[in-house]
Amino acid sequence: MKIEFDNTVCVLCHTCAFVCPANAICIEKTANNNEVYSFTLWHNSCTLCGNCSYYCPSGALRMSDKENAISLQKHKYTHAIHKAVSLTHCASCGEAMVALPDTFLANAFGSHTPLLQEHFRLCPTCRRTHTFSQRVLNP
Ligand code: SF4
Ligand code: SF4
Repeated sequence: MKIEFDNTVCVLCHTCAFVCPANAICIEKTANNNEVYSFTLWHNSCTLCGNCSYYCPSGALRMSDKENAISLQKHKYTHAIHKAVSLTHCASCGEAMVALPDTFLANAFGSHTPLLQEHFRLCPTCRRTHTFSQRVLNP
């Protein structure tokens, strides 16, 4: 078995790093671009406990039945997942924000309707303004 990571649906919540008992996951802002985060999972530290895939809210981490080949000690720093997770931009103001994939919306709300998808293309500030104008000014 082996953990696999889909960087296109990661919402950068850091839950996986928090629940990993082996400290095998590291998520950091990259030095040269503050809209890109680096995600690293060290296979040689991973105990395959499954906590990260169980608690990941967007399905970005999953146990695969691909073989997790044991690597030589000299390869311990290369036997890892290294991927970048990029922020997206608010559809209204352009502010950098975390993209919320359909898998996350479905887990959180039980569906991912076009209305929800449109709503979550906005940053938290624009979302509040949008909701306020919809519910209060145009009920
Ligand atoms: S399976 Fe367990 S040990 Fe491996 S990365 Fe996930 S939480 Fe950490
Ligand atoms: S992989 Fe999952 S749990 Fe980890 S930061 Fe991304 S969305 Fe959160």
